[in-house]
Amino acid sequence: MAKLIRNGTVVTAADQYQADVLIENGIISQIGLNLELECAEIIDAQGCYVFPGGVDPHTHLDMPFGGTVTADNFETGTKAAAFGGTTTIIDFCLTNKGVPLSESVQTWHNKAEGKAVIDYSFHLMIAEINDEVLAELPKMIHDEGITSLKVFMAYKNVFQADDGTLYRTLLEAKRHGALVMVHAENGDVIDYLIKEALDAGNKEPIYHALTRPSLIEGEATGRAAKLTALANSQLYVVHVTCEEAVQQIAEARNLGIDVWGETCPQYLMLDQTYLEKPDFEGAKYVWSPPLRPKEHQDALWTALKNGQLQTLGSDHCSFNFKGQKELGLGDFSKIPNGGPCIEDRFSILFSEGVLKGRITLNQFVDIVSTRSAKLFGLFPKKGTIAVGCDADIVIFDGNAARVISSDTHHMNVDYNPFEGLEITGEPVTVLSRGEYVIQNKKFVGTPGIGQFVKRKTYPSEPLQIKPKQDTVGQRGATHV
Ligand SMILES: [Zn+2]
Repeated sequence: MAKLIRNGTVVTAADQYQADVLIENGIISQIGLNLELECAEIIDAQGCYVFPGGVDPHTHLDMPFGGTVTADNFETGTKAAAFGGTTTIIDFCLTNKGVPLSESVQTWHNKAEGKAVIDYSFHLMIAEINDEVLAELPKMIHDEGITSLKVFMAYKNVFQADDGTLYRTLLEAKRHGALVMVHAENGDVIDYLIKEALDAGNKEPIYHALTRPSLIEGEATGRAAKLTALANSQLYVVHVTCEEAVQQIAEARNLGIDVWGETCPQYLMLDQTYLEKPDFEGAKYVWSPPLRPKEHQDALWTALKNGQLQTLGSDHCSFNFKGQKELGLGDFSKIPNGGPCIEDRFSILFSEGVLKGRITLNQFVDIVSTRSAKLFGLFPKKGTIAVGCDADIVIFDGNAARVISSDTHHMNVDYNPFEGLEITGEPVTVLSRGEYVIQNKKFVGTPGIGQFVKRKTYPSEPLQIKPKQDTVGQRGATHV
């Protein structure tokens, strides 16, 4: 049924204006003043923002890790995402050495199909480069529409790939039009530091942070950026946590290297002292990379504001405190890494970013939706409000005050890392391709209605960075 959103304030990454939005057949068909369509259902957005649905570029649903499986699957995870204003997620498809990529992708399709309540896509993990992988990659990118490849520089003996694999992935990505994503930490050094800490009898959660210093996140970020330059390729650094990594990304971008950076709400809001909470509660705050000393938060906010970091991912990877995080009792290295954030990413950025004057409203939309849609080949189907786009829309009450709590959240996990955080702003109604998923703060969606979205190759828009030719003197001032 056609829907007409009236009286709202439409906000995109570029504009903010009063307009009605008409939706027909799941697509935005008209935007204008005083629109009429007799058969359309009217949605009154008086006093509310009309935002494009959030695009979360970084989720882990139904993922095995550390001898357990994440608490949220594609049904509970996407439902919570929708409550929070996110209408598209890109989840990480894990792969195993020796297993065809197509088989891993099918496994991920099986996890999502029949469950997702919003649209989704996958990034593809690259564990090794060999003849089989080289033969399969073009098919994954061009036929399956999976146009981003993830390489882990950490998690030794689990996910970690060596520099040669990263370099060859960068070359293949350039050749076929994919964006390479890295988890940038020095896994070899971390492996040593963990052993050293455990040998010394240091087993509490805080040692998770102390064995992964920010310096080696910066080191790995810089190394990945330099390999990207060598391969003349393109790089997206996931979950940037610290000033050292921001500096490496900024430096690379100033040299015209095509490097992008993502951070996550937990790194903007929480700090290393959370890992010192008594009674093993610090385990709730074990992410990799870890939470940092508080002074890094300013560097991340500044980087979002000035464009050195461009996106916000949730890195949603939920494990219950009871029974799952507890696997690391007596040995911090066995605590499952990750936390729940898929629901709160959008509103935290609005409340802490826009309302506290750290970013503008247009920057908010860009960071939470548009930029990820552009980088990952979803734009303009996703990520904005314009005629012809999917009607993925959030009607958002920018004045609603509330307190984040596991008592009221919709994620299938027994704690919330932002418990007690007072924020302002809440999605009221959320549409996915013109259909209600959330209506007046109630879930009315249907598991299985979410569709897998094949994505365009990279770059899918004119590059914003133009690499200069050889001489150093020509470099700098390369942003246009
Ligand atoms: Zn992740």
